[in-house]
Amino acid sequence: MAFSLARLARQPALTPRALVGLARRSLQSEAAPALRPLSAGHLEHHLTDKPRALTPNKDLVFGHTFSDHMLQVEWTADAGWGNPRIQPYGKISLEPSAVVFHYAFECFEGMKAYKDAKGHARLFRPDLNMNRLLRSTGRVALPSFEKDQLLECIKELVRTEKRWIPSGKGYSLYIRPTVIGTQETLGVAPSNRALLFVICSPVGPYYRTGFNAISLNANAESVRAWPGGTGDFKIGSNYAPTVKIQLEAAKRGLQQNLWLFGKDHQITEVGTMNCFVLLKNEQGETELVTPELDGCILPGVTRDSILGLAREWNEFKVSERKITMGEVKRAAQDGRLIEMFGAGTACIVSPIKRIQYMGEDIMVPLDPSDPTCQAGPITRRLNDELLAIQYGEIEHPWSVVID
Ligand SMILES: *Cc1c(COP(=O)(O)O)cnc(C)c1O
Repeated sequence: MAFSLARLARQPALTPRALVGLARRSLQSEAAPALRPLSAGHLEHHLTDKPRALTPNKDLVFGHTFSDHMLQVEWTADAGWGNPRIQPYGKISLEPSAVVFHYAFECFEGMKAYKDAKGHARLFRPDLNMNRLLRSTGRVALPSFEKDQLLECIKELVRTEKRWIPSGKGYSLYIRPTVIGTQETLGVAPSNRALLFVICSPVGPYYRTGFNAISLNANAESVRAWPGGTGDFKIGSNYAPTVKIQLEAAKRGLQQNLWLFGKDHQITEVGTMNCFVLLKNEQGETELVTPELDGCILPGVTRDSILGLAREWNEFKVSERKITMGEVKRAAQDGRLIEMFGAGTACIVSPIKRIQYMGEDIMVPLDPSDPTCQAGPITRRLNDELLAIQYGEIEHPWSVVID
Protein backbone atom coordinates (compact mmCIF):
# COMPACT_ATOMS: atom_id res chain seq x y z
CA MET A 1 0.00 0.00 0.00
CA ALA A 2 2.63 2.53 1.06
CA PHE A 3 4.76 1.38 -1.82
CA SER A 4 2.18 1.82 -4.55
CA LEU A 5 1.09 5.20 -3.18
CA ALA A 6 4.69 6.26 -3.00
CA ARG A 7 5.23 5.37 -6.63
CA LEU A 8 2.14 7.30 -7.64
CA ALA A 9 3.04 10.34 -5.63
CA ARG A 10 6.51 10.60 -7.12
CA GLN A 11 5.20 11.07 -10.65
CA PRO A 12 4.64 14.62 -11.89
CA ALA A 13 1.17 15.50 -13.33
CA LEU A 14 -0.24 12.13 -14.35
CA THR A 15 -3.28 11.58 -16.50
CA PRO A 16 -5.92 9.29 -14.96
CA ARG A 17 -4.98 6.60 -17.49
CA ALA A 18 -1.31 6.84 -16.56
CA LEU A 19 -2.27 6.67 -12.88
CA VAL A 20 -4.21 3.45 -13.42
CA GLY A 21 -1.29 1.95 -15.35
CA LEU A 22 1.14 2.95 -12.68
CA ALA A 23 -1.03 1.62 -9.89
CA ARG A 24 -1.26 -1.73 -11.68
CA ARG A 25 2.46 -1.91 -12.30
CA SER A 26 3.43 -0.91 -8.81
CA LEU A 27 1.06 -3.46 -7.32
CA GLN A 28 2.56 -6.17 -9.51
CA SER A 29 6.17 -5.09 -9.20
CA GLU A 30 8.33 -7.48 -7.24
CA ALA A 31 11.53 -5.49 -6.89
CA ALA A 32 9.95 -2.91 -4.57
CA PRO A 33 12.47 -0.49 -3.08
CA ALA A 34 12.08 -0.82 0.67
CA LEU A 35 10.35 2.20 2.18
CA ARG A 36 11.10 2.77 5.81
CA PRO A 37 8.24 1.47 8.01
CA LEU A 38 6.88 3.39 10.98
CA SER A 39 8.85 2.03 13.93
CA ALA A 40 8.40 2.66 17.66
CA GLY A 41 11.98 1.39 18.04
CA HIS A 42 13.16 4.66 16.45
CA LEU A 43 11.12 6.88 18.77
CA GLU A 44 13.06 9.99 19.83
CA HIS A 45 12.31 12.00 22.98
CA HIS A 46 12.83 15.75 22.78
CA LEU A 47 11.28 16.89 26.04
CA THR A 48 10.31 20.44 26.93
CA ASP A 49 12.35 22.39 29.46
CA LYS A 50 9.25 24.53 30.18
CA PRO A 51 6.54 22.17 31.48
CA ARG A 52 3.30 24.10 31.93
CA ALA A 53 1.00 24.26 34.93
CA LEU A 54 -1.93 21.82 34.84
CA THR A 55 -5.42 23.22 34.41
CA PRO A 56 -7.58 22.55 37.50
CA ASN A 57 -10.26 19.94 36.79
CA LYS A 58 -13.06 22.45 37.30
CA ASP A 59 -11.71 24.69 34.49
CA LEU A 60 -11.37 22.00 31.83
CA VAL A 61 -13.33 22.73 28.65
CA PHE A 62 -13.38 20.04 25.95
CA GLY A 63 -10.48 20.46 23.54
CA HIS A 64 -9.23 23.80 24.90
CA THR A 65 -6.14 22.76 26.86
CA PHE A 66 -3.27 20.72 25.42
CA SER A 67 -0.53 18.81 27.16
CA ASP A 68 3.21 19.62 27.04
CA HIS A 69 4.16 17.20 24.26
CA MET A 70 2.98 15.85 20.95
CA LEU A 71 4.01 12.94 18.77
CA GLN A 72 5.11 13.76 15.25
CA VAL A 73 6.25 11.56 12.34
CA GLU A 74 6.98 12.66 8.79
CA TRP A 75 6.51 10.52 5.69
CA THR A 76 7.83 10.99 2.18
CA ALA A 77 7.06 8.97 -0.91
CA ASP A 78 10.78 8.39 -1.50
CA ALA A 79 11.88 7.34 1.97
CA GLY A 80 8.77 6.26 3.89
CA TRP A 81 8.42 7.07 7.58
CA GLY A 82 10.99 9.11 9.49
CA ASN A 83 11.75 8.69 13.17
CA PRO A 84 8.74 9.28 15.41
CA ARG A 85 9.43 12.15 17.81
CA ILE A 86 7.89 13.10 21.12
CA GLN A 87 8.47 16.84 21.13
CA PRO A 88 7.07 19.97 22.78
CA TYR A 89 3.46 20.77 21.74
CA GLY A 90 3.70 23.61 19.28
CA LYS A 91 2.97 25.12 15.92
CA ILE A 92 3.40 23.28 12.62
CA SER A 93 4.86 25.26 9.75
CA LEU A 94 3.57 24.43 6.26
CA GLU A 95 3.65 26.09 2.85
CA PRO A 96 0.31 27.68 1.84
CA SER A 97 0.36 25.28 -1.13
CA ALA A 98 0.22 22.19 1.13
CA VAL A 99 -2.56 19.98 -0.20
CA VAL A 100 -4.24 19.63 3.20
CA PHE A 101 -5.33 23.29 2.91
CA HIS A 102 -6.89 22.86 -0.52
CA TYR A 103 -8.35 19.39 -0.84
CA ALA A 104 -8.70 18.29 2.79
CA PHE A 105 -6.19 15.46 2.73
CA GLU A 106 -6.85 14.79 6.40
CA CYS A 107 -8.09 12.08 8.72
CA PHE A 108 -8.18 11.76 12.46
CA GLU A 109 -9.08 9.63 15.45
CA GLY A 110 -10.55 10.31 18.88
CA MET A 111 -9.62 8.13 21.85
CA LYS A 112 -9.01 8.60 25.58
CA ALA A 113 -6.52 7.67 28.29
CA TYR A 114 -8.00 7.11 31.76
CA LYS A 115 -6.35 7.05 35.17
CA ASP A 116 -7.62 4.19 37.34
CA ALA A 117 -7.99 4.15 41.13
CA LYS A 118 -4.46 2.75 41.53
CA GLY A 119 -3.05 5.56 39.37
CA HIS A 120 -2.37 3.42 36.28
CA ALA A 121 -2.95 4.85 32.81
CA ARG A 122 -5.39 2.88 30.65
CA LEU A 123 -6.56 2.97 27.04
CA PHE A 124 -9.91 1.62 25.82
CA ARG A 125 -9.87 -0.71 22.78
CA PRO A 126 -7.09 1.36 21.12
CA ASP A 127 -6.58 -1.31 18.43
CA LEU A 128 -9.97 -0.31 16.98
CA ASN A 129 -8.84 3.31 16.65
CA MET A 130 -5.65 2.20 14.88
CA ASN A 131 -7.63 0.00 12.46
CA ARG A 132 -10.03 2.84 11.73
CA LEU A 133 -7.22 5.38 11.17
CA LEU A 134 -5.54 2.99 8.73
CA ARG A 135 -8.84 2.63 6.86
CA SER A 136 -9.19 6.43 6.78
CA THR A 137 -5.67 7.08 5.45
CA GLY A 138 -6.35 4.56 2.69
CA ARG A 139 -9.57 6.35 1.71
CA VAL A 140 -7.87 9.73 1.22
CA ALA A 141 -4.73 8.28 -0.43
CA LEU A 142 -2.51 9.08 2.54
CA PRO A 143 0.23 6.59 3.40
CA SER A 144 -0.27 3.31 5.15
CA PHE A 145 1.49 2.78 8.48
CA GLU A 146 2.33 0.00 10.93
CA LYS A 147 -0.63 0.28 13.29
CA ASP A 148 0.94 -1.69 16.17
CA GLN A 149 3.98 0.57 15.99
CA LEU A 150 1.85 3.72 16.03
CA LEU A 151 -0.02 2.37 19.06
CA GLU A 152 3.31 1.78 20.84
CA CYS A 153 4.31 5.40 20.09
CA ILE A 154 0.95 6.66 21.41
CA LYS A 155 1.36 4.61 24.59
CA GLU A 156 4.80 6.18 25.10
CA LEU A 157 3.32 9.65 24.49
CA VAL A 158 0.63 8.97 27.12
CA ARG A 159 3.25 7.69 29.59
CA THR A 160 5.25 10.89 28.95
CA GLU A 161 2.09 12.98 29.51
CA LYS A 162 0.81 10.94 32.45
CA ARG A 163 0.60 13.94 34.78
CA TRP A 164 -1.82 15.46 32.25
CA ILE A 165 -4.37 12.65 32.69
CA PRO A 166 -6.80 14.24 35.16
CA SER A 167 -7.89 12.11 38.10
CA GLY A 168 -11.52 11.44 38.84
CA LYS A 169 -14.38 9.55 37.27
CA GLY A 170 -15.41 11.19 34.04
CA TYR A 171 -12.04 12.92 33.60
CA SER A 172 -9.60 11.70 30.96
CA LEU A 173 -6.92 12.68 28.48
CA TYR A 174 -8.47 12.98 25.02
CA ILE A 175 -6.03 11.79 22.33
CA ARG A 176 -6.26 13.10 18.78
CA PRO A 177 -4.14 11.21 16.21
CA THR A 178 -4.17 13.07 12.86
CA VAL A 179 -2.66 12.47 9.42
CA ILE A 180 -2.40 15.26 6.81
CA GLY A 181 -1.09 15.49 3.26
CA THR A 182 1.68 18.11 2.98
CA GLN A 183 2.76 18.00 -0.67
CA GLU A 184 3.43 21.56 -1.80
CA THR A 185 1.64 21.55 -5.16
CA LEU A 186 -1.91 22.24 -6.32
CA GLY A 187 -2.54 19.09 -8.36
CA VAL A 188 -5.29 16.80 -7.10
CA ALA A 189 -3.11 13.70 -6.76
CA PRO A 190 -1.77 11.50 -3.99
CA SER A 191 0.38 13.58 -1.65
CA ASN A 192 4.09 12.76 -1.84
CA ARG A 193 4.54 13.99 1.73
CA ALA A 194 2.51 13.47 4.86
CA LEU A 195 2.63 14.34 8.53
CA LEU A 196 1.24 12.18 11.30
CA PHE A 197 0.82 13.86 14.66
CA VAL A 198 -0.89 13.11 17.93
CA ILE A 199 -1.96 15.76 20.44
CA CYS A 200 -3.51 15.30 23.88
CA SER A 201 -6.14 17.35 25.70
CA PRO A 202 -7.22 16.87 29.33
CA VAL A 203 -11.02 16.77 29.44
CA GLY A 204 -13.76 16.66 32.04
CA PRO A 205 -17.07 14.78 32.10
CA TYR A 206 -19.38 15.76 29.28
CA TYR A 207 -22.12 16.44 31.80
CA ARG A 208 -20.75 18.18 34.86
CA THR A 209 -23.96 17.98 36.82
CA GLY A 210 -25.05 14.49 35.83
CA PHE A 211 -26.88 13.67 32.62
CA ASN A 212 -28.60 16.38 30.64
CA ALA A 213 -30.96 14.95 28.02
CA ILE A 214 -30.84 16.71 24.65
CA SER A 215 -33.43 17.76 22.06
CA LEU A 216 -32.85 17.08 18.36
CA ASN A 217 -33.76 18.60 15.05
CA ALA A 218 -34.61 15.74 12.68
CA ASN A 219 -33.53 17.32 9.45
CA ALA A 220 -34.94 15.78 6.28
CA GLU A 221 -33.28 18.25 3.86
CA SER A 222 -29.58 17.90 4.63
CA VAL A 223 -27.70 14.63 4.28
CA ARG A 224 -24.50 13.85 6.19
CA ALA A 225 -23.55 10.69 4.32
CA TRP A 226 -24.77 8.70 1.33
CA PRO A 227 -24.19 5.26 -0.21
CA GLY A 228 -20.80 5.13 -1.89
CA GLY A 229 -19.72 8.29 -0.06
CA THR A 230 -17.26 8.70 2.79
CA GLY A 231 -19.54 9.06 5.83
CA ASP A 232 -18.12 5.88 7.32
CA PHE A 233 -14.59 7.33 7.48
CA LYS A 234 -13.24 9.78 10.07
CA ILE A 235 -11.92 12.24 7.49
CA GLY A 236 -11.97 15.99 8.13
CA SER A 237 -13.96 16.76 4.96
CA ASN A 238 -17.03 15.07 6.48
CA TYR A 239 -17.29 17.56 9.35
CA ALA A 240 -17.01 21.21 8.23
CA PRO A 241 -20.19 20.95 6.10
CA THR A 242 -22.22 19.78 9.13
CA VAL A 243 -21.57 22.88 11.26
CA LYS A 244 -23.97 25.17 9.39
CA ILE A 245 -26.76 22.61 9.80
CA GLN A 246 -25.86 22.26 13.45
CA LEU A 247 -26.16 26.08 13.85
CA GLU A 248 -29.63 25.99 12.30
CA ALA A 249 -30.68 23.42 14.90
CA ALA A 250 -29.14 25.56 17.65
CA LYS A 251 -31.08 28.64 16.48
CA ARG A 252 -34.26 26.67 17.16
CA GLY A 253 -33.04 25.78 20.64
CA LEU A 254 -32.17 22.20 19.67
CA GLN A 255 -28.80 20.82 20.79
CA GLN A 256 -28.06 18.40 17.96
CA ASN A 257 -29.05 17.55 14.43
CA LEU A 258 -30.53 14.12 13.80
CA TRP A 259 -29.20 13.08 10.40
CA LEU A 260 -31.73 11.29 8.20
CA PHE A 261 -31.32 9.60 4.87
CA GLY A 262 -33.62 8.60 2.03
CA LYS A 263 -37.28 9.16 1.18
CA ASP A 264 -38.30 7.02 4.14
CA HIS A 265 -36.26 9.22 6.55
CA GLN A 266 -33.96 6.56 7.93
CA ILE A 267 -32.20 7.55 11.13
CA THR A 268 -28.42 7.56 10.61
CA GLU A 269 -26.52 9.49 13.30
CA VAL A 270 -27.05 12.23 15.86
CA GLY A 271 -24.54 15.10 15.65
CA THR A 272 -21.23 13.24 15.60
CA MET A 273 -22.57 10.31 17.58
CA ASN A 274 -24.05 6.95 16.68
CA CYS A 275 -27.75 6.63 17.48
CA PHE A 276 -29.57 4.00 19.56
CA VAL A 277 -33.32 3.46 20.00
CA LEU A 278 -34.83 1.19 22.66
CA LEU A 279 -38.44 0.32 21.91
CA LYS A 280 -41.08 -2.32 22.08
CA ASN A 281 -41.25 -3.32 18.41
CA GLU A 282 -44.39 -4.09 16.41
CA GLN A 283 -44.02 -7.78 17.36
CA GLY A 284 -44.10 -6.79 21.04
CA GLU A 285 -40.41 -7.58 21.71
CA THR A 286 -38.17 -5.16 23.57
CA GLU A 287 -35.43 -4.27 21.09
CA LEU A 288 -32.33 -2.06 21.14
CA VAL A 289 -31.78 -0.83 17.59
CA THR A 290 -28.88 1.00 15.99
CA PRO A 291 -28.52 1.54 12.22
CA GLU A 292 -26.43 -1.13 10.51
CA LEU A 293 -22.98 -0.25 9.09
CA ASP A 294 -24.21 0.24 5.52
CA GLY A 295 -21.53 2.76 4.49
CA CYS A 296 -23.44 5.80 5.81
CA ILE A 297 -22.63 5.17 9.48
CA LEU A 298 -19.34 5.90 11.24
CA PRO A 299 -18.27 2.60 12.86
CA GLY A 300 -17.99 3.90 16.43
CA VAL A 301 -15.94 2.15 19.10
CA THR A 302 -18.60 3.15 21.64
CA ARG A 303 -21.33 1.80 19.33
CA ASP A 304 -19.55 -1.54 19.03
CA SER A 305 -18.97 -1.69 22.79
CA ILE A 306 -22.62 -0.93 23.60
CA LEU A 307 -23.75 -3.65 21.19
CA GLY A 308 -21.28 -6.03 22.86
CA LEU A 309 -22.46 -5.25 26.41
CA ALA A 310 -26.16 -5.40 25.53
CA ARG A 311 -25.71 -8.73 23.74
CA GLU A 312 -23.82 -10.08 26.76
CA TRP A 313 -26.68 -9.03 29.08
CA ASN A 314 -29.03 -11.00 26.81
CA GLU A 315 -32.08 -9.29 28.34
CA PHE A 316 -33.63 -7.91 25.16
CA LYS A 317 -33.23 -8.19 21.41
CA VAL A 318 -30.22 -6.24 20.03
CA SER A 319 -30.35 -5.29 16.33
CA GLU A 320 -28.27 -3.51 13.75
CA ARG A 321 -30.92 -2.63 11.19
CA LYS A 322 -32.61 0.15 9.31
CA ILE A 323 -34.90 2.29 11.49
CA THR A 324 -37.00 5.16 10.14
CA MET A 325 -38.55 8.25 11.71
CA GLY A 326 -41.93 6.71 10.85
CA GLU A 327 -41.18 3.70 13.05
CA VAL A 328 -39.98 5.89 15.94
CA LYS A 329 -42.99 8.20 15.60
CA ARG A 330 -45.46 5.28 15.61
CA ALA A 331 -43.69 3.75 18.62
CA ALA A 332 -43.92 7.08 20.47
CA GLN A 333 -47.64 7.44 19.62
CA ASP A 334 -48.36 3.88 20.81
CA GLY A 335 -46.34 4.31 24.03
CA ARG A 336 -43.78 1.75 22.79
CA LEU A 337 -40.77 4.11 22.58
CA ILE A 338 -38.67 3.40 25.69
CA GLU A 339 -35.35 5.28 25.43
CA MET A 340 -33.09 6.92 22.88
CA PHE A 341 -29.46 8.05 23.08
CA GLY A 342 -26.38 9.06 21.12
CA ALA A 343 -23.04 7.31 21.70
CA GLY A 344 -19.42 8.34 21.17
CA THR A 345 -16.03 8.57 22.89
CA ALA A 346 -16.48 12.20 24.00
CA CYS A 347 -19.73 11.76 25.95
CA ILE A 348 -20.02 7.92 26.09
CA VAL A 349 -23.83 8.20 26.00
CA SER A 350 -26.03 11.25 25.51
CA PRO A 351 -29.69 10.73 26.40
CA ILE A 352 -32.32 12.16 24.04
CA LYS A 353 -35.63 13.57 25.30
CA ARG A 354 -37.30 15.20 22.29
CA ILE A 355 -37.12 15.18 18.48
CA GLN A 356 -38.54 17.97 16.38
CA TYR A 357 -39.66 16.35 13.12
CA MET A 358 -41.78 17.85 10.32
CA GLY A 359 -43.18 20.51 12.63
CA GLU A 360 -44.07 18.06 15.41
CA ASP A 361 -42.44 17.16 18.70
CA ILE A 362 -41.77 13.48 19.37
CA MET A 363 -41.24 13.01 23.09
CA VAL A 364 -38.86 10.30 24.26
CA PRO A 365 -39.53 8.99 27.77
CA LEU A 366 -36.67 9.33 30.25
CA ASP A 367 -37.20 7.47 33.51
CA PRO A 368 -40.93 7.00 34.21
CA SER A 369 -40.15 6.15 37.85
CA ASP A 370 -38.26 9.44 38.32
CA PRO A 371 -39.69 12.46 36.46
CA THR A 372 -36.70 14.70 37.31
CA CYS A 373 -34.26 12.18 35.91
CA GLN A 374 -32.31 12.99 32.72
CA ALA A 375 -31.59 9.48 31.43
CA GLY A 376 -33.53 6.25 31.13
CA PRO A 377 -32.40 3.22 33.16
CA ILE A 378 -30.84 1.30 30.22
CA THR A 379 -29.02 4.40 28.93
CA ARG A 380 -27.67 4.99 32.44
CA ARG A 381 -26.68 1.36 32.95
CA LEU A 382 -24.81 1.18 29.62
CA ASN A 383 -22.98 4.40 30.49
CA ASP A 384 -22.07 3.21 33.99
CA GLU A 385 -20.86 -0.18 32.81
CA LEU A 386 -18.69 1.32 30.06
CA LEU A 387 -17.17 3.82 32.48
CA ALA A 388 -16.50 1.08 35.04
CA ILE A 389 -14.56 -0.84 32.37
CA GLN A 390 -12.70 2.24 31.13
CA TYR A 391 -11.60 3.20 34.66
CA GLY A 392 -10.59 -0.37 35.51
CA GLU A 393 -13.27 -0.85 38.19
CA ILE A 394 -14.34 -3.95 36.29
CA GLU A 395 -11.41 -5.87 34.78
CA HIS A 396 -12.18 -6.40 31.12
CA PRO A 397 -10.00 -7.16 28.07
CA TRP A 398 -11.18 -3.89 26.44
CA SER A 399 -9.27 -1.81 29.01
CA VAL A 400 -5.50 -1.89 28.49
CA VAL A 401 -3.12 -0.85 31.31
CA ILE A 402 -0.14 0.87 29.70
CA ASP A 403 2.18 1.70 32.60
C1 LIG B 1 -16.22 9.63 16.00
C2 LIG B 1 -17.63 9.54 15.57
C3 LIG B 1 -18.57 8.70 16.20
C4 LIG B 1 -18.26 7.96 17.47
O1 LIG B 1 -17.21 7.06 17.35
P1 LIG B 1 -16.47 6.55 18.68
O2 LIG B 1 -15.41 5.65 18.14
O3 LIG B 1 -17.47 5.84 19.49
O4 LIG B 1 -15.95 7.76 19.36
C5 LIG B 1 -19.84 8.61 15.66
N1 LIG B 1 -20.19 9.32 14.57
C6 LIG B 1 -19.33 10.14 13.94
C7 LIG B 1 -19.80 10.88 12.74
C8 LIG B 1 -18.02 10.28 14.41
O5 LIG B 1 -17.18 11.10 13.80
